[in-house]
Amino acid sequence: MAIKLFDSLQRELRTLTPAQPDGVYRFYNCGPTVYAPAHIGNFRTFVVNDVLRRLLELEFGPDKVKHVRNLTDVDDRTIGQTRKEGRPLGEITKKWTEIFHADCTALNCLPPHVEPTATGHIVEQVNMIEVLMQKGNAYRAPDGSVYFKVGSFEGYGGLSRIKERELKVTNTVADADHKDDVSDFALWKAYKPEEDGEVRWPGPAGAAAGRPGWHIECSAMSKKHLGDTIDLHTGGVDLLFPHHENEIAQSECCNGRLFAHHWYHSEHLLVNGTTMSKSKGNYYTLGDLVAKGYAPMSVRYALLSGHPRKQLNFLLDSLHAADKALATLRAFRASLVQRGQVSGAAKSATFDGVLAALREDLNTPAALGALFSIVNAYEQRPALAGDLTGFDQVMFALGFRLDRPAAAAVEVPAEVTALAEKRWAAKQAKDFAAADALRKDLTTAGWSMLDRKDGYSLEPVKK
Ligand code: AMP
Ligand code: ZN
Repeated sequence: MAIKLFDSLQRELRTLTPAQPDGVYRFYNCGPTVYAPAHIGNFRTFVVNDVLRRLLELEFGPDKVKHVRNLTDVDDRTIGQTRKEGRPLGEITKKWTEIFHADCTALNCLPPHVEPTATGHIVEQVNMIEVLMQKGNAYRAPDGSVYFKVGSFEGYGGLSRIKERELKVTNTVADADHKDDVSDFALWKAYKPEEDGEVRWPGPAGAAAGRPGWHIECSAMSKKHLGDTIDLHTGGVDLLFPHHENEIAQSECCNGRLFAHHWYHSEHLLVNGTTMSKSKGNYYTLGDLVAKGYAPMSVRYALLSGHPRKQLNFLLDSLHAADKALATLRAFRASLVQRGQVSGAAKSATFDGVLAALREDLNTPAALGALFSIVNAYEQRPALAGDLTGFDQVMFALGFRLDRPAAAAVEVPAEVTALAEKRWAAKQAKDFAAADALRKDLTTAGWSMLDRKDGYSLEPVKK
């Protein structure tokens, strides 16, 4: 059986097959920018990619998949954060990388085989930029920055089908003075002391000292760890343009070869109909939800409850439904064990329909539907010896861990919630004196309240 996945470049479902004779499937997933917490919207993308990774392992074998996911630890946003906090770049990115890793573990995402950092691959990026300059695809601007000449790559716009006219409007007009053409994008940014602080490296030959542009990071790290041509490149829809379009241009001009056989973009998680995003401040982190008493596994379940290529509106209620669903699966597995089923038995075909749904464009809601129709009607059919093995394989593919209760990791006592609600209402009514007094009551009760634009979260005060 084959895995079929929508290809954003060809605009059709295409079968995934390793292109190279060693049979290893080469998979690059754009990773997080580590300057702030990853929110559960970001984790929708990473959890969907984790299901894909698991499915690839089932299909080609665990040692026949090479999964690379980078850490963007230098770019405009990370540098902006060092300026804001007045702390070194490495300190900030280390902190958020550790929190990202802890969240990935709690959500049961398999670690990628390689997790390269942009700052660890400056030489590789500089080398690519030098090749692009030598080939005439890039030029040095008067300030010592280097830009990619979009007009030099005939295939530009193939992924996003962006028309030239739109391109000129969409691309940043910042640095327009330095560019030959407004649609050109930065490969290397010359050092600006007032913005970059301590962050700078020696530049490509003929260019100023500075730092890489964001897009070249992924081209260089993908080339280093997976080779010139990869099997699959993925990310959230917002990366399609300009990030992935620019990656294609850089990699194909530098290497003279096809960059990726397949492109996959998953859709966004929304809040009240708007994309969840750090800049809008309308987000939940995993920590926020755990502090409210939800289990990370329920968050994972909720993130997989919608089709990955459709937008999904996030509701706290979906976590209650997820809790219940996981409790049902846990009880079902226990009943299989009670009936004498053993995990080592040869797999039955009972749950194959669930995997078939995942193989068809990662249709997670159809897979969950198929799973529950089997579980709910299980008593009415003859049990087969390998049902536990089949069930466990499906749990592996979806990445559901059933060994921990779906109940709250941190229970918030009712009286604390009541105080928090009162304080929130006081704050909304701009009664700041009352809000401050209630915050003191919360602290005395051992809780701290973190305010956001659209709500709050509660965390036990660390002792
Ligand atoms: P960033 O840390 O901003 O570089 O984003 C990391 C990943 O999360 C990228 O693949 C983004 O496309 C993805 N992403 C950002 N916002 C959302 C969202 N609201 N829902 C799903 N994925 C998102
Ligand atoms: Zn990337």
